[in-house]
Amino acid sequence: MLDDLQRETHPAGAVVFERGEMGANAYFIEDGAVEISLDETSVKRLGKGELFGEIALIDHLPRTATVRAVENTVLIPIPRALVNELLKKTDPVVRHLLLTILERYRATHKEPAFDPTQTTITRVEKTRASARQHIVLSHEISNALKNREFELFYQPICHVGSARLAGFEALIRWNHPRRGFISPGEFLPVAEQTGQIRDIGLWVLKRACIDWPVLRTRIAEEFPFVSVNLSPTQLTDPGFVERVQAILLNQDMPPTELKLELTETVIIEEPELALKLLTALTAIGSRLALDDFGTGHSSLQTLQRYPIGTLKIDRTFVSGMDTSPHQAGIVRSSIDLAHSIGLNVVAEGVETESERKLLVEFGCEYAQGWAFGKPEPVAVL
Ligand code: C2E
Ligand code: CA
Ligand code: CA
Repeated sequence: MLDDLQRETHPAGAVVFERGEMGANAYFIEDGAVEISLDETSVKRLGKGELFGEIALIDHLPRTATVRAVENTVLIPIPRALVNELLKKTDPVVRHLLLTILERYRATHKEPAFDPTQTTITRVEKTRASARQHIVLSHEISNALKNREFELFYQPICHVGSARLAGFEALIRWNHPRRGFISPGEFLPVAEQTGQIRDIGLWVLKRACIDWPVLRTRIAEEFPFVSVNLSPTQLTDPGFVERVQAILLNQDMPPTELKLELTETVIIEEPELALKLLTALTAIGSRLALDDFGTGHSSLQTLQRYPIGTLKIDRTFVSGMDTSPHQAGIVRSSIDLAHSIGLNVVAEGVETESERKLLVEFGCEYAQGWAFGKPEPVAVL
């Protein structure tokens, strides 16, 4: 699917598609302009940043207009597979609404649905701008993988009491050719929605395994580990466990030294699938950590049937716990609860010495945060 997102260049006068054809792509105009003709009298011009051809793509009916490039034009095709993937992720009510509106529109308008002269359908500019941004970003993400623009940084995870290094968490960075470093918080939600996160996730895992022999030498521990984040969509890849296993094997990575971090969303979205896959991952020897604990809604009891060994308490509770007795109370009881069901605990976002001291007092095993080190590339560590 990622390979389908390649730009197309059309010289002036070239037909992009003709009325009556079945469409496999919608198009985003990256540069240039096109002319859309329903008949001789009804013609409209669309330029840079506009989208066309999307309706036939969603409702699987023939194109209702002919589109020609009016100057040298660069288009990013948006394949049906990608639209379907996005639709699958959309709230079912929104999806149903969208498809119903299209069906009614096609049925009640003898005129073609894709009528560029329609002024009644005014899309809110804000929505359009964010959709455009989303499309451009997903296109750039697929190029980023090919052009090796992603990098992995590693943040130390330390024993709270001694500050001794115990492991690292791998965190992705995108070194964008124009924009510089883009935070994972900006591009991962898009990659998650388009399914691109599956390829990115495998790249992250492979990269972490390649870096591990060097990172490992920094840790004087019997059981060192590198943590890799797993996103919900990765588990829906039917060959996921086999792919993980193949990467570990090819990179000569001991499975016991890999820890996979997942949030409760992974479990909530597909509880039975998650149980099967997480059990398979621990059967090959890898360990699991529950990430961002406290931000979701499930109780630890409901998560107890999953083979999780580590609980990571979210930084929103940890940062500032030294000045908030309420936050400190939540952290203390999360630690106690985790210990009562046999889990060890990592406190995230530890920024100060007084937070560290409190965590020692609460019996927390591990900590991660600026007090122990920021994420850095492997060459710096
Ligand atoms: P996370 O898994 O909770 O990762 C910890 C985040 O907290 C990182 O942000 C880290 O830089 C930041 N952090 C660590 N210590 C401190 C601290 O003391 N103070 C503050 N203010 N922040 C701290 P980052 O690297 O921006 O990552 C954000 C999120 O993106 C991650 O949250 C994770 O959910 C996701 N992510 C990052 N890399 C990957 C990846 O390779 N795969 C997947 N699926 N998700 C990833
Ligand atoms: Ca994490
Ligand atoms: Ca986290």
